[in-house]
Order: sequence, then C-alpha cells, then structure tokens
Amino acid sequence: MNLFTSVQLAPKDPIFGLTEAYVADQRADKVNLGVGVYYTDEGKVPLLKAVIQAEEAIVAKHSPRSYIPIEGPNPYNSAVQNLLFGADSSLIKDGRVVTAECLGGTGALRVGADFIKRLNLNAPCAISNPTWENHRGIFESAGFEVVEYTYFDGKTRGVDFDGMVKSLESFPKYTTVLLHACCHNPTGADITEAQWRQVIDICKAKDLIPFLDMAYQGFADGIEKDGIAVRLFAESGMSFFVSSSFSKSFSLYGERVGALSIVTQSKDESTRVLSQLKRVIRTNYSNPPTHGAAIAAAVLNSPELRQLWEDELAEMRDRIKAMRHGLVEKLAAAGVKQDFAFIEAQRGMFSYSGLSAEQVERLQKEDGIYALSTGRICVAALNTKNIDKVAQAIARVLA
Ligand code: PLP
Repeated sequence: MNLFTSVQLAPKDPIFGLTEAYVADQRADKVNLGVGVYYTDEGKVPLLKAVIQAEEAIVAKHSPRSYIPIEGPNPYNSAVQNLLFGADSSLIKDGRVVTAECLGGTGALRVGADFIKRLNLNAPCAISNPTWENHRGIFESAGFEVVEYTYFDGKTRGVDFDGMVKSLESFPKYTTVLLHACCHNPTGADITEAQWRQVIDICKAKDLIPFLDMAYQGFADGIEKDGIAVRLFAESGMSFFVSSSFSKSFSLYGERVGALSIVTQSKDESTRVLSQLKRVIRTNYSNPPTHGAAIAAAVLNSPELRQLWEDELAEMRDRIKAMRHGLVEKLAAAGVKQDFAFIEAQRGMFSYSGLSAEQVERLQKEDGIYALSTGRICVAALNTKNIDKVAQAIARVLA
C-alpha cells in the first residue's frame, strides 16, 4: 500500500512562504515588508528590556517544570483580564470572565472556534473582507462555514461602514462575527467609537456572537485607548469572546503567548464554560507552556516592569508612526502624484498600500522588496536605512 500517492502539494502559506523567498534572496539590500513583525531601526526583532529583566528573575529561580493547569496559570490569566477589561472591571469582580492561556492569538482563535462549534448552533463565522489570511483557515478547520462581511473601501482607503452594517444585519442568528479590536490587519483601517456602538447594537439585535481579535493592543494609541472595543462590549451586557496575543506587544513571537477570554452572564455560567473549555484544550494540547506566560505575568504584575514595558511599547508605536510619516513624505519627494496621506491615517503595523499584484511582483524582482500580493506592507519593517530605497522603488513601479 502506498499511503501518500494521492497527497497533493499544498500551496505555501502566503506570508511564511514569502519569507522563505526573502531568506533565499542573495541581494544585500533586500527588504521584507511581508511578515507581521516589528523590527527596530537596525532591522532587528527587539528583545524588550522588561522581558529580559523578568526572564532573568525567572531563570534565577530554577523552578521545576511540572504541568501547569489546563487553562494556564492564574497570575497570567488575571493579568490578561486586567489588561483587556481594566483592573476595576465589574465583570472580573462578578466572576463573569473566563480566561485561558493559549498558544498565541492563533491558538486562542482556534480554541474559541472549537468551543463555539461544540455549542451546536449551526451558524457560520463571518470574517472581514479582507482579513488576516489565517482567520478563514482557522474557522474552516474547526468546521465552520466561513462568510465575509464588507469592510474596506478601496476608493476611500477607509472602512465602508454602511456596507459593513448591511452585511452584519444580513447574517443569521448565532453567526460568529470576527472583529479586529484595533489595528485592522491587513488594512490598518479601524472603525470609530461611535461605529463600535452601532456594531454592538446590531450584534445584540441580531443575536450575533462577537469574537474580538486583539493582536495589536498598544500599537495604535496605547493600551487603554486600543482597548475601547473590548470595554464597550463589556458595558453592553452581551456574552462575547476575545482572543489576545503578546506576540507583537511583548515581541515574544516564538514563545506563543496568547489567551482566550470569554465573557459570560454569571459566575455559575463561567464555571460551566470553563469546564468545557478545559475539555477542548485537554484534547488538543493538554496544557499550555510555562515560559512565555511566566514572563508576561511577571512584567504585567510588577508596577516597575509594567511601566518599562509600556514605555518600550510606546517607542515601537512612535517609530511606526514616524515611518508612516516618512514614507508619505518620501513618496511625494520621489515625484509620486497620488495622495498617499492615507498611510499616515492607518493604524498598527500594516498599510494597504494600493499597490497591485503586478507592482508588488516588480518590487520583488527588480528591488528585492517583498510585500504581499494584496499590496499589504508592514510599515514596522521600514527603517531609516531602507525607507529611501522603498519610496524610490514604489515611485518607479507607480510611474
Ligand atoms: N490575529 C491577527 C489579526 C494577526 O495579525 C495575528 C498575527 O499576525 C494573529 C491573530 C496571531 O497572532 P499570534 O502570532 O500570537 O498567533
């Protein structure tokens, strides 16, 4: 028997596949604007000082590595809750939030998807058009039919909010609606506070299941302001899901540090929800890893380290904003006639540049500049050494 003769070669992951091509590229001045990673001005993935200090203290203890609880350690989970809902949240006090450490934001999305699937609601999952490449795959793998809601308007380069409202209103009861809590990936276009309130009203009126994906808290306007969507949903009285990640905000990509939080209606409901959530996790990877979550908890639960982390996060945020500003200026200086001011208005790590697939291909072939074929560029990978080259190359392919 030849078991694998019918196995087809799967397509490469659009983002990690691009990185493979970038790594193989021999040009010394190549630039990778494809992957969603923050780089310093020296082009390095930063190791935050707050992380180093927390890690040194953890390593010095030489703690044994036994299994940790299925849902992860309490100091970590409560730090996640405080960050998302605010330390004085009545939801937390009333025992209405269930949190489990998960393997990055991806793991949190998958555990949440598996949990919702087991509710047997027989409804689809709706993702924004466009969205992060993996959203569709995660929910399809969990057995959902995945549909799209209108989100981005290519003409205004902002959100088509009327279209979004129409889509949301058309979904059947119990549709899981995946919403980017801030710093929309890939477009960088977020909705306003007033628009969030409307979205909440629709979710309530139509019995939709809100699932907030919070992968970039702190990258737009800071921890508190970027948490606005979560806070508004918390006020709404609805039950909802939040997947959160410290991959970007702690620069801990490889440690896989994330969490799933579920807001319930009562303490009793929380107990039952947690018991089922633990079954989902136990039959998947049993229990989460110790190291990354221990670092995040140590930082978040120490006033000094937390301040240091927030300062370092602010530095990352400000550098990205400076690169947005610089790119707009340099494109104009390179003779580009189109108005690229939208790049400065977009938030988080990414910009939907408006470049076509052909233009992106030319950037890769002619200049060794790698971006997604959708035109998404990672502004957090620009720096003072590569920004002139990038601006000039974009100007050339646009001419
Ligand atoms: N959600 C969005 C919107 C993302 O952009 C990402 C990562 O790029 C994730 C979730 C997953 O993050 P993690 O690397 O923590 O799994």
